[in-house]
This record gives sequence, structure tokens and C-alpha cells, in this order.
Amino acid sequence: MNRYFLAIIGGGPAGYTAAEKASKAGKDVILFEQNALGGTCLNVGCIPTKSLLYGAKQYYNASHAQKYGVSAENVTFDFAAMQKRKTIVVRKLVAGIKARLNNDHCTVVNGFAKVLDSIRQVWRIECNGETYEAENLMICTGSTNFVPPIPGIKDNPAIWDSTDALAATELPKSIIIVGGGVIGMEFATLYHELGVPVTVIEAMPTILPNLDPEVVQILLDKYRKAGIQILTSTKVESIDGNTVSISSSSSSTSLTSLTSDKILVSVGRRANLQGLEALDGLEFNRGAIVVDEFCKTNLPNVYACGDVTGKIMLAHVASRQAEVAVGRMLKEIPLQRIAYNAIPSVVYTNPEIASVGITEQQAESMSIPVEVHKLPMTYSGRFMAENEGETGLCKLILDAKNHSVLGVHCIGNPCSEFIAAASFAVRMGYTAAEFRQVVFPHPTVSEILHEVINE
Ligand code: NAD
Repeated sequence: MNRYFLAIIGGGPAGYTAAEKASKAGKDVILFEQNALGGTCLNVGCIPTKSLLYGAKQYYNASHAQKYGVSAENVTFDFAAMQKRKTIVVRKLVAGIKARLNNDHCTVVNGFAKVLDSIRQVWRIECNGETYEAENLMICTGSTNFVPPIPGIKDNPAIWDSTDALAATELPKSIIIVGGGVIGMEFATLYHELGVPVTVIEAMPTILPNLDPEVVQILLDKYRKAGIQILTSTKVESIDGNTVSISSSSSSTSLTSLTSDKILVSVGRRANLQGLEALDGLEFNRGAIVVDEFCKTNLPNVYACGDVTGKIMLAHVASRQAEVAVGRMLKEIPLQRIAYNAIPSVVYTNPEIASVGITEQQAESMSIPVEVHKLPMTYSGRFMAENEGETGLCKLILDAKNHSVLGVHCIGNPCSEFIAAASFAVRMGYTAAEFRQVVFPHPTVSEILHEVINE
């Protein structure tokens, strides 16, 4: 039988979450994936970077253990072993997804799927020479690293994207990172902690331009002091082999060119739209598929979830979109929606940055009067015990009128592990008085959320 209730193109966090949910509901589901299940996040994104970053952190912490009264001499690392471990972690997780889909009786086809047409509201999809039919179609094709139109970038062996960097078996001798966004700063952390000289070139006046500027400034100051060269308001004019020509509109550099072993380009990602050409009339906005609050496109029974919708390119957004979309398809009551205002995000620098909700600056641009409470992380005893020499910051943004929690922005380890508590407060529309009643375990760094509300 080649006829399904739901055909999903793409097996990343959006695709496999949708497949699991619809299959568990007893529907016939087929999922097409041209590479490995798990998509960018699992294979060439979140998980491999976090595996390598953890290795780098172990090395870095061991080399800097003296501040905790520990001396470790001749600390070394084996990058090939780190890479091997990363590959094992990824393989195990991919196998886990495969097993789960198998248990749920979801059909998985490995190959490039192409939409053919829709006949009497049944979508026809071709893959590996076979034709499949489905009542509902879900596009979860993800995104790919964007290659900016900088002269000298194409076919240049010195240029890496994040996938190349993750696959490399040897560390670069030095690296220039073009783009000080999330990918750029995470790789800057990895290479710096492993002793590689790093230069970051960022076109905007600051790195991580979408985050709270005060939080970012703490990272910027720490990284610059540690020896990472960070050039802001700096444009790459052209690249010739290993040499990057730059022009700067700030006083952060008088340099006009820089040379390094490798040049990592991380200036954003673009939606993957190949194979969808036959979807006549599908609505796009800035190269991404337009969807409504249930991830429905403007075509009948066609949904899109994840990076391809261009909303917020995060794996946890993709999987939540998939849950909502399948709920809508199954006509679940009550219908779920996505709280885009309460999506947490983390940058795995060292220290980590974690945030949810709006910043002070965003509130101002939306003319929302806010109250800002802030404290250094050192108000937490556990933070003091484990983060020698660090101060960190936690900022709480409250609606000035009703005191509901609108945002939380932190820098300091391990804020990635407790930002979910703040997301919960934003999602539920807690007031400061309500959030104050939540008991946080002592001693944990999460207590900073309790402290900052009482500040
Ligand atoms: P990004 O949008 O986060 O950052 C790109 C940066 O490049 C921006 O700061 C931008 O100003 C800068 N830039 C653009 N053109 C430039 C140029 N020509 N020269 C210098 N700088 C330039 O994009 P990204 O870092 O490539 O990440 C892609 C997506 O993946 C993002 O949506 C990100 O959120 C997601 N991601 C998330 C995580 C995480 O959740 N921890 C990790 C990695 C990636």
C-alpha cells in the first residue's frame, strides 16, 4: 500500500516528532529522509557541537583547575578521540530515533523525496523511483548554511561551514570566523578552549546581536581578555585563499586584512526548498514557507514545520511546531498553539547564555513599559562555589503594569539547565508574586531566579 494519511518530507526534530505523534495516534505515516534521521540538529548541529564543546570544556577546566586547589600537569587532549566520541554519541541517538519510529510502525524511506502533484486532494510524492500518495503533506526539509556573495568564497579549500568544521579530523592551526552569531560564538569557544588562535568578524556593532546587550557585553569582555580577537562593525570585502580583506566602521581595528589556516563562515541559514517546486501557489516570505498558527500553509492539507518556516531556527521550536501541526491535523480538542513568546534559547559559550522572552530593548521598541531587576550570579551560593573568578548576570523583565514575567536573560554556568523554569513563568503568564512562591532547591544556581525576583 503506497497510500498514507500523512507523508512527511525530512526526518529532523520536526519530521520525526510529527511522525511519532501521528503514528502513535494510529495513523499510517511515511517519512522521507535523504540523509540520516535526526536532521541537522542531531547529525551536524546541536549534538555534535555539544559533544565536542564538552570535551573542550573538560580540557580547559583541567588546565585551569588551580583556582580550585587542584593541580594537573601536562594536561593534553586528543582531538581525533573527541571526534570519535562525538560520532558515537550521534550514532546512538540516531539509532534511538530509528527504533522509536519502528516501534510506532512508521514507514521510513531513505532517499530524496519530490512532490509530484495533487490529484483530488491527494498528494503524490516520488522517492527512489516509487510513487507514494498521502492525504496530508508535511514539509520539514530544514535549512542549509547560507553562503554569502563574498568574492573568493566559492571553491576555496580554506573555507569551512559548520558541517566542514564538525567533520574535520584535525584542528585548524588558526581560524577566522565570519559571523559572530550563535554558530560563530560556539565554534569560537570550542577552538579557543583547545588553544587555537581565533578571530571573529561580525558585521553588526556587537556579536550575538539579538540577545540582551548587557549579557553579551560580559561575554565579549571575557573573550577579548582571554585573547579571542573580536572585530565588530567589520565587513568582509573579499577572500583570497587564506586571506580575508576587511573594512571596519568602528575603532575596534585598523587592520585591512587577516590571514588564518581556515575561515569558518557562519552568517545564517536558509530554508531548503528543493523537491517542492510542484507545490503551485505555495506562499513564501523571504525564502521561507509561510504558515499559520497551526503550521498550515496556504495549500490544502499541506503543513510546514521547523527551519523551513523561517520562524525561529531552533530544534525545540521545530518539534513543538510538529506537535501543534499534527494536533491540528488530527482535530485534537482543545487545539494547541505555540507560545512563540516563551521560547527559550541557549548559546553554549563558556559561560553559557540562556534567555527567554523579550529584552529591555525589545520592550522599548514595542512601547511596553517594563521594570528591570538584575543581579550578578554570585548571589547564588552554588554559583560562587563552582565558578571561581566569574560574576555572571541574571536579568528579569517584568511588565510594569501587571508585573507579569516577560523575559529572563542570564549569563553564567549552568544557566542552560534552569532557563526552562523561567520559560514556564513566561508561558504561564506568572506575575512576580506568583513566581516568587516557587521553591527552588538549595544550593543550586537556579535560585538566582528567586533572588532576582526579590531584588
Ligand atoms: P545567526 O543569525 O545566529 O548569526 C549570524 C551572524 O552573522 C549575525 O550576527 C550577523 O550579523 C552576522 N553576519 C551576517 N553576514 C555577515 C558578514 N558578511 N560578515 C560578518 N558578519 C555577518 O546565524 P548562525 O550563527 O549561522 O546560526 C544559524 C541558525 O542556527 C540560527 O538561527 C541559530 O539560532 C541556530 N543555532 C542555534 C544554536 C543553539 O540553539 N545553541 C546553535 C547553533 C545554531
